[in-house]
Amino acid sequence: MKVLLATQKPFAAAAVAEIRKVVEDGGHSLVLLEKYAGQSDLVAAVADVEAMIIRSDKVTAEVLDAAKNLRIVVRAGAGYDNVDLAAATAHGVVVMNTPGQNSNAVAELAIALMIFMARNQFTPATGTEIQGKTLGIQAFGNVGRLVGKKAEALGMKVMAIDPFLPDEKIIEGGAEPAGSLEALYSSCDYVSVHIPATPETIGSIGYDLIAKMPKGATLVNTARKEVIDEAGLEKALEERQDLKYVTDVAPDNLAVLKEKFGLRVFATPKKMGAQSAEANVNAGIAAARQICAYFAEGCTRFQVNK
Ligand code: NAD
Repeated sequence: MKVLLATQKPFAAAAVAEIRKVVEDGGHSLVLLEKYAGQSDLVAAVADVEAMIIRSDKVTAEVLDAAKNLRIVVRAGAGYDNVDLAAATAHGVVVMNTPGQNSNAVAELAIALMIFMARNQFTPATGTEIQGKTLGIQAFGNVGRLVGKKAEALGMKVMAIDPFLPDEKIIEGGAEPAGSLEALYSSCDYVSVHIPATPETIGSIGYDLIAKMPKGATLVNTARKEVIDEAGLEKALEERQDLKYVTDVAPDNLAVLKEKFGLRVFATPKKMGAQSAEANVNAGIAAARQICAYFAEGCTRFQVNK
């Protein structure tokens, strides 16, 4: 089978070499499409491939229409909102992600961003410590659980909420169940967001929740920019001069937020949560292995469009 590694933002060469080895050991061939200029290049490249490994690359209905032989797409990473799932399902294409493979990288970044904001973006102004503060984790999945463990080790009290997990699982994971989203936001000095971007979650964190946060609180977003209602965020920051926002995914209104709120807002220049050498290799290899297992045994363990 022909496996296309389509990465507008390429993997490191060492990761590509390992991906190639897994694919070829599985009896398949690897084709590379890296740093491509636009969607039309992707549409042209998929014409004769049976499988694709992607990162933040957009697998739209147009791409799927052009990929006549395609059977499987694996997003090397956790979020798969860049794949048109309905179109993939309509074409009989299996879509998978590689959950857990980049979680540690993202969790480390969430902790780093909290400390960065607590210390006023490393300006000389006196900051605060995170020890003794309360962290609320919104969605207790692979990343959320790791953030909780690391925060606990740093002396924080950890609370969490996840609508798809019973309280026992949250307690098992070392956090105190918050009971409700409102309770999480109103009782935590830091809230770290780890929900996926779905039709239900997009724009779901806005003024009503953010304005409930206690004095001096910080909202940390290493999930997706789309889950934040940006107008609501701006209003909350305007009314509450003590609140801060830090994010791995620059909001569309970043320039306005920076101008109005200065050091109370920070966005990484590029999405970098999963950008560690370890996460790159882990996610890419997991994607290659999942493709081999799918063709060899029909394994669909990580399918997200069942
Ligand atoms: P995960 O699938 O392990 O966990 C997601 C959690 O969200 C699950 O526990 C699930 O129960 C919960 N959830 C699902 N739907 C929900 C909803 N509608 N409302 C509230 N909670 C819901 O994913 P993860 O690996 O922990 O990653 C979380 C998110 O972080 C991803 O979806 C992705 O968007 C983002 N992410 C960002 C980066 C980055 O580079 N910044 C890297 C990886 C992941």
